[in-house]
Amino acid sequence: RLENKWSDVDTVFLNSLLPAEEDHNYVLKVNREAELPQIDVSPLQGKLLHLLAKIRGAKRILEIGTLGGYSTIWLAKALPAAGKLYTLEANPYFAEVARSNIATAGLENKAEVVVGNAIDTLPELYNELKNVFDFIFLDADKQSYPDYLKWATKLAAPGAVIVADNVVREGEVANVQSTDERVQGVQQFLKLLSEEPRIEATAVQTVGSKGYDGFILGYVK
Ligand code: SAM
Repeated sequence: RLENKWSDVDTVFLNSLLPAEEDHNYVLKVNREAELPQIDVSPLQGKLLHLLAKIRGAKRILEIGTLGGYSTIWLAKALPAAGKLYTLEANPYFAEVARSNIATAGLENKAEVVVGNAIDTLPELYNELKNVFDFIFLDADKQSYPDYLKWATKLAAPGAVIVADNVVREGEVANVQSTDERVQGVQQFLKLLSEEPRIEATAVQTVGSKGYDGFILGYVK
């Protein structure tokens, strides 16, 4: 089956591209044992986020949707010594697991988990920090992507990179009749993005161990 091939190819790339010190699979193991849903980014996707943040020279990273902190750890490891990452998570139990994983990775001084509905915590973050973020990763509930785009645009510094995950939804994004709120959220997000003059963006469809999906990559002028 095609899905098996995608996973096999992911394994081939992992074996040659991820040295042992970049193996954060212990986090995925902890998350599984803590019975978190297995919806973390894949290792190769985590490394892509890491590299994008590095290429950007990101010093202030915002992540919406922490889960157990797997992508958080990849991103925080791209930060320089004085860099800082804020990650927003609605579920207090997931946030607790993430905090513990972040501490195990030795990143507690760099990565802060903010617990609460991002719709409530984003305005608080804006009041406190304004538009300081040079890298923003959207990965929480897809219904709220339109709101997250508005906040990301406010919180982004000029030159910021925005990545929005899971925008393909196994191709459902092309179904204009979809009644799935998550698909509708992504469709609305795309409409807003097309009307946002400050952001230049593209989309990449992906296959791999996580199936068929994709992400939006944006640059804030
Ligand atoms: N970024 C994580 C990773 O790759 O390791 C995966 C994040 S998971 C796909 C989405 C997370 O967003 C879940 O942990 C969920 O609890 C959280 N979430 C959903 N709705 C939220 C909201 N309104 N505010 C904050 N977090 C939310």
